[in-house]
Amino acid sequence: MTDFISLAAAGVQSLNPYQPGKPIDELEREYGVSNALKFASNENPLGPSPHVLEAARKALPEVWLYPDGNGFRLKEKIAAHCGIATDQITLGNGSSDLLDFVVRVFVSPGREVLFSEHSFAIYPILTQAADGKGIATPAREWGCDLHALRAVVTDNTALVFIANPNNPTGTWLEGGSLERFVRDLPDHVMVVIDEAYFEYASDPAVGADGYPNTVEWVERYPNLMVTRTFSKCYGLAGLRVGYSVSHPRVAELMNRVRPPFNVNRIALVAAEAALDDDVHRQRSVGMNASGLKQLMAGFERLGLKYIPSVGNFICVDVGDDAAPVYEALLCEGVIVRPVANYGMPRHLRITVGTSEHNDIMLSALQKVLTS
Ligand SMILES: *Cc1c(COP(=O)(O)O)cnc(C)c1O
Repeated sequence: MTDFISLAAAGVQSLNPYQPGKPIDELEREYGVSNALKFASNENPLGPSPHVLEAARKALPEVWLYPDGNGFRLKEKIAAHCGIATDQITLGNGSSDLLDFVVRVFVSPGREVLFSEHSFAIYPILTQAADGKGIATPAREWGCDLHALRAVVTDNTALVFIANPNNPTGTWLEGGSLERFVRDLPDHVMVVIDEAYFEYASDPAVGADGYPNTVEWVERYPNLMVTRTFSKCYGLAGLRVGYSVSHPRVAELMNRVRPPFNVNRIALVAAEAALDDDVHRQRSVGMNASGLKQLMAGFERLGLKYIPSVGNFICVDVGDDAAPVYEALLCEGVIVRPVANYGMPRHLRITVGTSEHNDIMLSALQKVLTS
């Protein structure tokens, strides 16, 4: 039998794939529990807007036609929404698609890609797949330390990834220091600010004072790219649609590696409708802000430390190895996210649910920690 591993590209040979949160179906099948609740993938517990579902249903009979490969109408909507030009936008099958494109465009084998310790797992994975050299800089209070990042920039640096706020820690960077970091980078370094949780973090009620609107900076810094997604606050994780905002010349390069119909018909119309429904967005961010408070109060009652978060998730320190706590919660029908693979073996990342589900999760956590 052929040794396919030896045939794989160098970076792929030792690559560990991304581990997604456990799906509800899988837990119910494996553990024989029913009514399981998932707090593991930062999905919006309210789901999408009803207008989105209506638009998606209306588009269904047209699925035999290829989608608009340029996503003209969605780009127009995003451009108006963000106050940018359509030629700055690249659409992706989820924003992870765009992270993949930017690596393929800018990272040749051996070039360096920088990110912080405890930052999103996709960055090192994509870097390694491209045979780039990933460099993780030490975190500061669980968050990204911009000075540490700046200190390792070299002539060989191709790309810097910064998630703001960061997943899984929920930590965030304020606009002043972040803009100075971007401004002071050498021209040959691309910087990607991954804003998968932008809508949550920019809600005043979560208290991220000075959280920036970085798409406004792209005009000033041609080596800056911002990515956003419809998967989180807009409740469309299952449809896969995200976008990047960059200099038009960078968007043109992204378009060279983008598969022609990477965003499907239903996703395009659903995302358009999602941008139109500001009421649903506000309900979602409002529920998140109160849910975060509920979880923090719950953790304090249980005597547990947590990392203050401005996303729709929060990392709690269970005081000891979190793996048995994760397993015990599964037996209670509660799926959370272990983060040992992020160098955080005592933490669990928990997505903010509805107030009712948050209470169920907190009770389950209390039960498994005291039994
Ligand atoms: C969820 C997430 C994404 C992207 O998700 P998509 O569904 O691919 O849009 C990107 N970055 C971070 C930090 C995330 O948490």
